Amino acid sequence: MNQELFDQLVGISGVDQVFSSAEDVAGYLYDSTEEYVRPAACTDCYVIRPGTYEEVSAVMKLANETKTPVVVRGGGTGACGAAIPTVPSIIMSMERFRDILEVDETSMMVTCQAGVSLAKLNEYLDEHVHSLYFPCHPGDEGAHVGGMAIENAGGVRAVKHGIMRNYVKGLKVVLPSGEIVQFGGKLVKNNMGYDIMHLLVGSEGTLAIILEATLKLYPRMDHTGTLVCSYLDTESAIASVAAVQRKGIIPLAVEYMDRMIALKTAEEISKTWPMHDEGKVDLIFMVEEATEDALYETAGTIAEICEEAGAVNSVIAENAKDQRDVLEVRSMIYEIFLPYFVDSLDTAVPMAHIGDLLRDIDAIAEKYHTTSPRVGHVADGNFHNFIMREDGKPPVWADDMRRDIYEAALKYGGTVTAEHGTGKTRKPYMNLQFTPGVIEVMKGIKRAFDPNNILNPGVILDL
Ligand SMILES: Cc1cc2nc3c(=O)[nH]c(=O)nc-3n(C[C@H](O)[C@H](O)[C@H](O)COP(=O)(O)OP(=O)(O)OC[C@H]3O[C@@H](n4cnc5c(N)ncnc54)[C@H](O)[C@@H]3O)c2cc1C
Repeated sequence: MNQELFDQLVGISGVDQVFSSAEDVAGYLYDSTEEYVRPAACTDCYVIRPGTYEEVSAVMKLANETKTPVVVRGGGTGACGAAIPTVPSIIMSMERFRDILEVDETSMMVTCQAGVSLAKLNEYLDEHVHSLYFPCHPGDEGAHVGGMAIENAGGVRAVKHGIMRNYVKGLKVVLPSGEIVQFGGKLVKNNMGYDIMHLLVGSEGTLAIILEATLKLYPRMDHTGTLVCSYLDTESAIASVAAVQRKGIIPLAVEYMDRMIALKTAEEISKTWPMHDEGKVDLIFMVEEATEDALYETAGTIAEICEEAGAVNSVIAENAKDQRDVLEVRSMIYEIFLPYFVDSLDTAVPMAHIGDLLRDIDAIAEKYHTTSPRVGHVADGNFHNFIMREDGKPPVWADDMRRDIYEAALKYGGTVTAEHGTGKTRKPYMNLQFTPGVIEVMKGIKRAFDPNNILNPGVILDL
């Protein structure tokens, strides 16, 4: 990086918004990817925090002229190394774009700037829009709306309301050329030309920079409830999930946890886990209804179906505190187990093959004389199983085990990553899931958007 480029960036956004010192840049170099998995960041970077869309456009034009890589940064909560610069780069932070521009209650849509965090969006809707809410909820509320859209984030509530691709109805973006473009809008239907907007969702900042997103909102239900069911084995737990949905009950969320994980996490955060039976697996069902009666009826029906399918116990969280405790245990698992694992995988398979995948994971873990505890968004077939450390360090066979599990998921028609993305950490496995021909098509798409390969180079693909 050179002084001339630094001065040009200062010329675009002003001296207060461009950093070069190691100290100032340090906070922008890493995301939330596990330390033993993430790539080493290149420290020879400049950070710029543009304040207008025209400044973002100007940075892209300058980057094209000087062939300087640009790495966009949202909330930095990504879990696949996508926002980590590995070559000298301009890090473009979207943190100043934090306005909520419009809530259209008739169209049930909100338009906000890309740098609005999930926490801020929820806070705003809770305070100002009582009839509607935004269900999409990945585990870290520090994620930005722009980062969630570009990563096609999922989270616990995907079973009922889908993933970000289902919420995104409009995107205002800057293309790598610097052109500012609007795709879609407050539309439920839009069928003109190629659907570039939905191609951008999940493109991980490699094809365009999101400035604004228009998102679908859903009616806010007055009553939510939480029910925990326990099982002696995985099969009966999975059978329950399918049986509940076939009865026409679509829960807000269904989370799968090994009992061991729930107990350990509860202990670490000084909470009481409500299940004290011989169960090995627990399912958390979250349900929402318009009335309390309907809520209890739905929760009761789910408990009945689960017991028929083999649940050995079911507990409805009676009050707000019990509910909060159960959900807090679920949301704290990642943080509590982080010091014990090398990697948290993110595979998904069709519902019918979850049992097969989990059995394979157990057999693979046995092969490496280890265990692989897991938690998952089971109704989406999406599991996060851990590759555990050995004596606090990554075992030599960690990548072999990872590859074995990926191949198992693909064998059942699954995917290497369900919601966290390819980024830089899963790129080496692209050829497991795609043919060389398909990868060539993807490279062609990248070249069409970004002929100089300057926007997030090395994410998803190497050209
Ligand atoms: C504890 C924890 C739990 C999580 N749980 C979930 C979960 O349940 N489901 C899930 O899907 N994810 C989950 N994640 C991952 C993460 O929260 C998501 O990937 C999130 O969408 C990332 O958003 P971000 O704003 O933090 O993006 P960043 O990490 O800042 O960036 C991620 C990628 O998006 C690009 N990017 C960011 N903003 C823009 C923009 N405006 N325009 C273009 N490109 C941009 C970056 O260049 C990078 O490639 C979890 C992460 C943590 C730490």
